[in-house]
Amino acid sequence: CGIVGYIGKRDVAPLLLEGLQRLEYRGYDSAGIVVTSPKTPGLKMVKAKGRVRDLEAKVPARFKGTTGIAHTRWATHGAPSDLNAHPHMSADDKVAVVHNGIIDNAADLRRKLEADGVEFLSDTDTEVLTHLIAHSQADTLEEKVRHAVRLVEGTYGIAVLHADFPDRIVVARNGSPVVLGIGEKEMFVASDIAALVTHTRQIVTLDDGEMATLKADDFRTYTTEGTRTTAEPTTVEWEA
Ligand code: GLU
Repeated sequence: CGIVGYIGKRDVAPLLLEGLQRLEYRGYDSAGIVVTSPKTPGLKMVKAKGRVRDLEAKVPARFKGTTGIAHTRWATHGAPSDLNAHPHMSADDKVAVVHNGIIDNAADLRRKLEADGVEFLSDTDTEVLTHLIAHSQADTLEEKVRHAVRLVEGTYGIAVLHADFPDRIVVARNGSPVVLGIGEKEMFVASDIAALVTHTRQIVTLDDGEMATLKADDFRTYTTEGTRTTAEPTTVEWEA
């Protein structure tokens, strides 16, 4: 339902929780957040059924990071619960995915992954993306995500964190909005510009079939086939 992400130098958890609150008007049944930082690699995650303030109450005091992604969920596959809330993380705690939309061939992909010995933790359609990315043999995070999105049918706006690539967030869009917010040595991503405009008015809207890599001081966009696309930020007018 709602996605917010950030990479830069700020303490990321309060910033993402505030972003989620700006998306509350869209409605949701659960929420979650995952953070990391180049200095202390490894992903830290908290998820909660209920409101953003229920999630906030579960976030420990030492939940520090400068990169993170967060989500408010409107369940389509699997009941609202702590486990079904996003992000969905791989068994080795390396990959975390937040997703808006519906993966139509999730049941089929899940059967194949389970036949290969993959254990699922949730009832969501989203979790197939996590395992497809985690099991990709590709060298770069961009290629791992491309590999996964090429196998799924349906709609998605996704943001992905990987513990082995703590300097970036990779996002992709097909039928579910993803906008980038371009800052000064910091980058934002969201499913709705309402979550970005307090931080930056420089916006790039992804097209269907487009992906992006966000680093603190740089971003690039490309198609799911890997061809670079041009993305000039536009300045949005917004009445706060
Ligand atoms: N289909 C996914 C789920 O049920 C994502 C729902 C959403 O867009 O929030 O978990």
